[in-house]
Amino acid sequence: MSADDLTDAERGYLETLCWLHEAGLPMTGANVARAMQLSAPAVHEMIGRLERDDYITRGSDKVISFTETGERQAEEIVRRHRLIERFLTDVLGIPWDEVHEEAERLEHAMSPVLEERMLAAIGDATTCPHGHPIRVGSRLPGVPLADVSEGASISVLRFENEAEDLLHYLRTTGLEPGLDGTVAESGADEIVVEADGRRYTITRSVAETVSVTADPSPPPRVALPEQLVLGTQRYGR
Ligand SMILES: [Zn+2]
Repeated sequence: MSADDLTDAERGYLETLCWLHEAGLPMTGANVARAMQLSAPAVHEMIGRLERDDYITRGSDKVISFTETGERQAEEIVRRHRLIERFLTDVLGIPWDEVHEEAERLEHAMSPVLEERMLAAIGDATTCPHGHPIRVGSRLPGVPLADVSEGASISVLRFENEAEDLLHYLRTTGLEPGLDGTVAESGADEIVVEADGRRYTITRSVAETVSVTADPSPPPRVALPEQLVLGTQRYGR
């Protein structure tokens, strides 16, 4: 069975599980419901279906694990999604806060030939425009920008939460993956990053979802689900 045989709903769930897994959050029905902004009964039903179809298993502690097939499918879906996003920004010039929905639609129309051409077209880019590795599993370790102390130099790695409303907000701040700067202020409500003589201001709650490398670096921390899933829409990938 290939990823093309999955229903849209199943693909969405596998993507969500993959995202939780990458973010270091437990793969549980509750976290899936929160991430997809769906009701617990709806999630329960679909999780049951994915289990019957042998994409996932559930432990006695209710924690979900991928089967080998499930993991392969999920990674393929996520990889394609990120590849298309990168293609849309770099080759077609679509702003990075607008590519998610388009990528979602195009995912279904991908043939191996098109995929190969897209890969060639993006050159040596290795991440989606939001900083997530196209080859799933190769993500660089980072810390939340909210944890970094004033004066530290940082490099923005990725936006963990790709909900469209959050991405629109992030775009207005000017921050983007790859930006190198210094934390000029770390206040209770806002964080200010300085780079190239410009100041980038972002709310503390959103800074929880921005992963950076920092020097000096705060200790690593897995973000809390509430912090990663704070969009009003689905979180996106
Ligand atoms: Zn992305």
